[in-house]
Formats: sequence, structure tokens, C-alpha cells
Amino acid sequence: KDFRNNVKPNWCPGCGDFAVQAAIQRAAANVGLEPEQLAIVSGIGCSGRISGYINAYGLHGIHGRALPIAQGLKMANRELTVIASGGDGDGFAIGMGHTVHAIRRNIDITYIVMDNQIYGLTKGQNSPRSAQGFINAKYSPQGSIEPALSPLEMALAAGATFVAQSFSSNLKQLTAVIEAALKHNGFSFVNIFSPCVTFNKVNTYEWFKENIVDLDEIPDYDPTNRAAAMAKIMETNGMLTGLIYQNKEKVSYENLVPNFPKEALCKQPLEISEEDFQKLLAEFK
Ligand code: SF4
Repeated sequence: KDFRNNVKPNWCPGCGDFAVQAAIQRAAANVGLEPEQLAIVSGIGCSGRISGYINAYGLHGIHGRALPIAQGLKMANRELTVIASGGDGDGFAIGMGHTVHAIRRNIDITYIVMDNQIYGLTKGQNSPRSAQGFINAKYSPQGSIEPALSPLEMALAAGATFVAQSFSSNLKQLTAVIEAALKHNGFSFVNIFSPCVTFNKVNTYEWFKENIVDLDEIPDYDPTNRAAAMAKIMETNGMLTGLIYQNKEKVSYENLVPNFPKEALCKQPLEISEEDFQKLLAEFK
């Protein structure tokens, strides 16, 4: 069960995405997957490269569209474990419509967002996660005017059945939350603070270490209480890490579709003759 491949990541030294890659590889092995049972679909951005760096099926998709592809893949082959991944710009700007609807739909996939609060690949523009007052020498030298999106509040409000957050500097917790997400039967939303060491000079590793509130240090926290989870998120200004909310009762989308086959669609028998099938294909030529 080796999820490493021979491709050398071209992320900048120190980029938080290295830890996310390692955590996915460890979590996939820990839950007993084989590489051919895992598919990773990514969007565009530095984080989008991750689908090529893991020994599994990989598809580097288009900007903001990892989730539609990942959902289609899961519906076509329920035997696969499917991860969608991308950055905060990819998922919370151009891809936001897909994010909200994928969450409420609750298909059994895991969505991992590498949240560095900036656009790294295009050299440092502010993202929907850049905080109000965020000083960016090129794009908001006097401080960003817009407030940042709160991904945890958004996910809970959209009806998420699994919400977790972690940090690239905490590989143990990061691996544990991805492992729990892979085991969850429904849509798992995992937001990861993954610092961009090249362009974000505000939200650094040190900044996160000073501001994170780790749920592992709050022993009486109950992740099944949705209202309490929302209150804790707001109380900590979205800086909670750990498993924040999980609802194991809600049935996932593919289990609600009447008569939807449990096996991959490609294994279903064709209900038309070979001749009619060829005629059908010819109509699309
Ligand atoms: Fe990572 Fe930022 Fe470098 Fe992109 S630009 S690889 S996000 S450190």
C-alpha cells in the first residue's frame, strides 16, 4: 500500500501542501485502501498539482470544477474512494457554487481544501480567504477592504455532515482527520491551513501556531452537536482545528437514488443490442 510515486513535487520548499500530500498518503494506507481503489481529482492552483503526486488515479481538472468531476466519478463507480482537492481560491471563488451544492447533496466523497489565504500559482493576489485588513504589498498595500469568507460556517450552514479543519504543521492531527473523512459515509469537508511561504507573509506557520484553537485540547467537546459546533466556530473566529462536526445518521446521496446499482456502471450489462449500440454511437460522430 505505497501511495508514493516517482514524481517530484515542484512546490516551493516549505509549502504547506507537502504535508497535505503526506497526510493523504498515510490516511489512505491507514484505512486499508489499495492505490487502484483511490481517485484524486484536483482543481487549478499550486494545490491542484497534488493529484499527480500520489500513487492513485489522478485527474488535474479545470478551475473550480474538481467537485463536479469528482461527484460524477463517484456516481459512475461507487467502488472507488474519491477525493476532490484544491485551494481556497479554486473552491471558494470560481468553484463556490459547486462547493455549496456538493455539500448539501452529501455524495460520499472527501473534499480537501488547501487554504493558504492567497492565490499562490498566479503570484499572490488576495483570495476569498484573505482577511479584512490583510496587507499585501502588490494588491492591498493599505489593507484588504473585503472581509474573509468563513469556510466552516459556510459548510455547516450548507448542511455538511462532516466538517474538519487542520494545519500542515500538525501531521498527526491532519492524518487523523483525513482518515476520519475517508471513513465517513457522506460528503466530508476538510479545510487545511496550508501556508504559502512565498507570497503570504502574514499568515505564516508562526501566525497559525499563535492563533489556532486545537479541539484535541478541549476534551468535553461534542462533535455531534451542530449548534454547539457553529457557536464554537464563531467564538474562535474560525480558527478551530480537529473534527468539528459529524452526522453519521444522514444517508448519502447515492444511497437515496432509487435502484442505483452498487457496482460500477461499467460493470452493468448493456440493455441494448450491439448493433443498436453502434447506431447510437454513430449519432454522436
Ligand atoms: Fe506553495 Fe505558495 Fe509556492 Fe504555491 S507559491 S508552491 S502555494 S509556497
